[in-house]
Amino acid sequence: MKIICIGRNYADHVKEMNSPENEDPVFFLKPDTALLLRNRPFYYPDYSNNIHYEAELVIRIDRNGKHIREAFANDYYSEIGFGLDMTARDLQQKCKQNGAPWEIAKGFDSSAPISRFIPLTDLKNVENIEFSLKKNGEVVQHGFSKDMIFSVDRIIAHVSKYITLKMGDIIFTGTPSGVGPVKIGDRLEGFIEDKKMLSTLIK
Ligand code: MG
Repeated sequence: MKIICIGRNYADHVKEMNSPENEDPVFFLKPDTALLLRNRPFYYPDYSNNIHYEAELVIRIDRNGKHIREAFANDYYSEIGFGLDMTARDLQQKCKQNGAPWEIAKGFDSSAPISRFIPLTDLKNVENIEFSLKKNGEVVQHGFSKDMIFSVDRIIAHVSKYITLKMGDIIFTGTPSGVGPVKIGDRLEGFIEDKKMLSTLIK
């Protein structure tokens, strides 16, 4: 399986990062070794001094497809989860300055803590999915899927033009504003609507 991540998908986050806006979704990949499941702790890596959380809605592809048309994209997923796109912001800054790929900043081991998946039909408002992240009990990110610049269906159509999607692939759909650093001892808790989905201790 592969993990596809969308960058710059919420206008307020684009602004906080001083990033340019894009005509098409920007995406990058994390390897399967980035997965961190079942609320296991996240071990702060020694090669970074500035690890950030990015709270994101994630979808799981449940049918193989390529060149998927946007109008049919919703046939390719039926469940949603909560994920953290853990980012070594200091390494990412260096990559950006050098025009280098982002993998060491985004694809390192355990950089993708992901919750269980729940059926979209379990949500109260699937048209505008509310999600939030608490750090040590305080809300630090709060998003609504309607604020995505590129919808999930648009993302699937765009990505599948270049990369075949396979059953089990995961797509991180981007983060709203409020990203920030973690330190050892912090507890991150992710929510979709009022459901607690994920709890990660930084160790
Ligand atoms: Mg992200």
